[in-house]
Amino acid sequence: MTRKVVEFPPRTTNVSSFERLESNVQSYANNFPDVFEFAEGAEIWANNGKRYLDFLSGAGSLNYGHNPSELKSELLKYIENNNISNSLDLHTKAKKEFLDALDEVVLKPRGLDHVVQFTGPTGANAVEAALKLARRVTDRTNIAAFTNGFHGVTTGALAATGNAYNRGAAGVELNGISRLPYDGYLGGDYNTVDYFEKLLDDPSSGMDLPAAVIFETVQGEGGHKVASDAWLQQLQTLCRKHKILMIADEVQAGCGRTGDFFGFDSSGIAPDIIAVSKSISGYGLPLALCLIKRDLDAWLPGEHNGTFRGNNLAFVTATAALNKFWKSGKFEAEISQRSVLLRQRLTKITEQHRDMISETRGKGMMMGLAFSDPELARRITTHAFQLGLIAERVGPRDEVLKIMAPINVRMDHLDEGLNILEASIEEVISTSPHSKFAD
Ligand SMILES: *Cc1c(COP(=O)(O)O)cnc(C)c1O
Repeated sequence: MTRKVVEFPPRTTNVSSFERLESNVQSYANNFPDVFEFAEGAEIWANNGKRYLDFLSGAGSLNYGHNPSELKSELLKYIENNNISNSLDLHTKAKKEFLDALDEVVLKPRGLDHVVQFTGPTGANAVEAALKLARRVTDRTNIAAFTNGFHGVTTGALAATGNAYNRGAAGVELNGISRLPYDGYLGGDYNTVDYFEKLLDDPSSGMDLPAAVIFETVQGEGGHKVASDAWLQQLQTLCRKHKILMIADEVQAGCGRTGDFFGFDSSGIAPDIIAVSKSISGYGLPLALCLIKRDLDAWLPGEHNGTFRGNNLAFVTATAALNKFWKSGKFEAEISQRSVLLRQRLTKITEQHRDMISETRGKGMMMGLAFSDPELARRITTHAFQLGLIAERVGPRDEVLKIMAPINVRMDHLDEGLNILEASIEEVISTSPHSKFAD
């Protein structure tokens, strides 16, 4: 295949500012080296005019794409009116409207009698709060977390995170966690909740009774592994029997990513604490919260405090997102239409490349291709970026090419992005020195 080489004008922003002034800790920028300036929906433009399709979606913080217009207009009005921007955790009109919308659109329809804790504005901080509260109300220290789980990189949350690279940066011992095998971890037939049950029933198993289990319904950073509804239900039954709290880390799987508002919706379970962040603002603005079953709200005022608890600009866009997308009950069908197409096309790619791709993974609009060789996945995403598609890699060895288009992505953009992905796969394998496809 020959591809026309497009020349772009020289960059107008000096990339070396980032090299000279920004810490080595930056990461996404290393994989997607351009300077971005405008974005709308799934499209994003660099300052030299190059257009990309963004199937990274702010690592799941832009579920409705960039700058969704209905959210933007509410935000602009709010700013123009001199409404409250920062509020510590004071009551504001924007916060009231958000709480009411969350209650009406999310909590009540699910029968969740949960109160809302506004934590610091990151997913990790919501997880920290959840872990602290679970330990407080049960008077136990141990928390069960799963293999390949990702829960953030501050010390408490990092202890629950599996990734050795992230854990290695802690500098202190990471304590208070028992690691359990996630659904499917020990092979398809092995029921890992049975294993957990065995540990709990054996007074000599060596596992202290956990205060809580923390789990993702689909493991985002862990490689788009999906917990089955049956597994979640069995986990809930076991937890209730042993009075272990369930903490659903919905930071990435939540807000529509899996096809329902929560990743656990299809299972019908009711977690005691639900950590929500990434896409809750709907606009990529920082906001995080814990939903806490009312009778577990044992916090004393200010115990888990922080300056930025509740971002009013994010409340405005979050409220608009709940009202615009989720209120009518029709949005799920829109997501489903896209996820069916996405799954079909990824499955076809997997079938065509069985020697390189072990499976199509994920749920809803949280899908990926699991490559046998992480290096091949790296080369394909790098090449896709050159061709105009932004997509990242996840999984224990970064072997899963992750497709995270906006959940309401325009169908033509979804098609176009997947065409680029296919072209990238073909071009990379045709130039691979070890490929049997090589000339
Ligand atoms: C991203 C993520 C976090 C951490 O959120 P931050 O905002 O990056 O701190 C926690 N849990 C899950 C499942 C995530 O995907």
